[in-house]
Amino acid sequence: MPKIVHYRENCIGCNSCVEHAPKQWKISPEDGKSVLIGSKKKKDVHILEISTVELENNELAAKDCPVGIIKIIR
Ligand code: SF4
Repeated sequence: MPKIVHYRENCIGCNSCVEHAPKQWKISPEDGKSVLIGSKKKKDVHILEISTVELENNELAAKDCPVGIIKIIR
């Protein structure tokens, strides 16, 4: 299963990932940063397994993140 890795601390809350993949991403009303929905936190990163169906949108989210904090592991 592919995984999304989110280095959340450096998120600037631009909403781009939410626009690409709203099933996986939302903006937190508390701190304005994006949340990887359903992810598990390990040290400073949030990790979520996704199906291959969800891969394309999230690869676009990773590509367009202006601070480069979304990584996809295949
Ligand atoms: S695209 Fe990157 S900086 Fe923008 S909200 Fe998503 S994770 Fe944060």
